[in-house]
Amino acid sequence: MNRSTPIIAQTESGLDPKDWAQTRELAHLALDRVLDYQEGIAQKPVWRPIPERVDTFLQGEAPLQGLGSEQVVAEIFEHVLAYPAGHAHPRFWGWVCGTGTPIGMMADMMAAGVNASAGTFNDAPSRVEFQVIRWMRDLFHFPETASGIITSGASVANLIGLAVGRDAKLGEKVRRGGLHQVSGTPRVYASAQVHGSVDKAMMMLGLGLENLRKIEVDDAMRIRIDALAAAIEEDRKAGYSPIAVVGNAGTVNHGAIDDLPNLAQLCKEQGLWFHIDGAVGALAYMSEEVRPLLQGLERADSLAFDFHKWLYVPYEAGCILIRDGKAHRRAFSVAAGYLESPPRGVGAMPDSSNNRGPQLSRGFKALKVWAQIREYGMETLGRVQTQNVAQIRYLAERIEAEPRLRQMGPSPLNIICFRYLPESPEPTLSDQINREILMRLQEQGIAVPSSTRVDGYFCLRVANTNHRSRRGDFDALVTAVAAIGEQVERDTAN
Ligand SMILES: *Cc1c(COP(=O)(O)O)cnc(C)c1O
Repeated sequence: MNRSTPIIAQTESGLDPKDWAQTRELAHLALDRVLDYQEGIAQKPVWRPIPERVDTFLQGEAPLQGLGSEQVVAEIFEHVLAYPAGHAHPRFWGWVCGTGTPIGMMADMMAAGVNASAGTFNDAPSRVEFQVIRWMRDLFHFPETASGIITSGASVANLIGLAVGRDAKLGEKVRRGGLHQVSGTPRVYASAQVHGSVDKAMMMLGLGLENLRKIEVDDAMRIRIDALAAAIEEDRKAGYSPIAVVGNAGTVNHGAIDDLPNLAQLCKEQGLWFHIDGAVGALAYMSEEVRPLLQGLERADSLAFDFHKWLYVPYEAGCILIRDGKAHRRAFSVAAGYLESPPRGVGAMPDSSNNRGPQLSRGFKALKVWAQIREYGMETLGRVQTQNVAQIRYLAERIEAEPRLRQMGPSPLNIICFRYLPESPEPTLSDQINREILMRLQEQGIAVPSSTRVDGYFCLRVANTNHRSRRGDFDALVTAVAAIGEQVERDTAN
């Protein structure tokens, strides 16, 4: 802006309502409508296709003149909240999506109400986040010197974990001078079932997609440790520089859990950073029944997990724990005059989240996690996780008992894949029929599984991180898949 440009405010006014009483009424109405939605959700279709009028409305231009809060709230209900993907519904089991809770919603609303940016200020929100990180540190038996940060999800948690691992293994020279400072291309290892966010982390960290070596899995979809050890040895001989292994605590396709204690041991012997992607499974450590399956989590150098998946917290909230808190801060600290932390006052924040991750300004996601854990307690949350695993075992039995359905791959945790077996075993036709079944299930609003490929076959995939599901919901799924399958076959034959 040119100094000579005159800027004259005619009258001063901000963005607050002129009539607070009216705003209050509108806010209460909005809250009631959203609670109505949650309370009555089981009676609604899981998902509805977006009508054209909504599509058109949502392509309009930004208004120059304001429309007022009443109209905007009405628009949100009519055009937006009426057509969600359906994550909160008891028969939503697609991808790995959480369900959300009323307390989580309230916490998010309150956090927005005071417009808190957590982690960089001397305030209670920053302390809440530290408390959640300490709770997680204790849950997973990490040492007191461990560090962590709440993230948008496990994608960013994986990125941070591998960034710290990269710097811890390759040293300050890489942090300062870049990757070309090292002799021997750095390599990272994971099973062939590893999540795509790890591929993305490799790209973003400059390590390169091709240097994520994907190791074959056994019948249980767990990384083959003998093959991993052989790959590391082979790479060393060829002049590569192995730096890290990513273990899975719940693969995205099947919920398979790698042999974490033996991976930890191998990393220790080989001097490698041991990162665990626990986006799906780690938080089921709260379940007494599931915990034994997750042994070895405590030994990770960095552990990524998601509150918005199997802790049912509303989007979005994930976390990374780093065993070596100093290495964590070293990887993200930069000096900036405008961010100096004075000994007292609002800026007195010696352990700023700015030094523990890529973000500076951050929302107060910690509050909904904190509130959820305090409302229910870890035992109750663990009990619902146990219930989810039991429901998947029940669904496996129902699939087994249905002659036209077949389970595909293992289901050790809360995820199961299966397909409808048409009369004709022709694979392309079979895939086509199963894809059609999936789309009709969703379009008819019956249930939302997603899909994946197992042994090359298109399969329906049910990931159960849903505290609202009951056995009857899985009965309804089995009945619908069988019935729609027959219908699709008839339609295809005609
Ligand atoms: C969902 C998922 C991720 C990514 O987590 P976001 O929270 O979606 O960013 C990573 N790994 C696995 C195994 C996942 O299921």
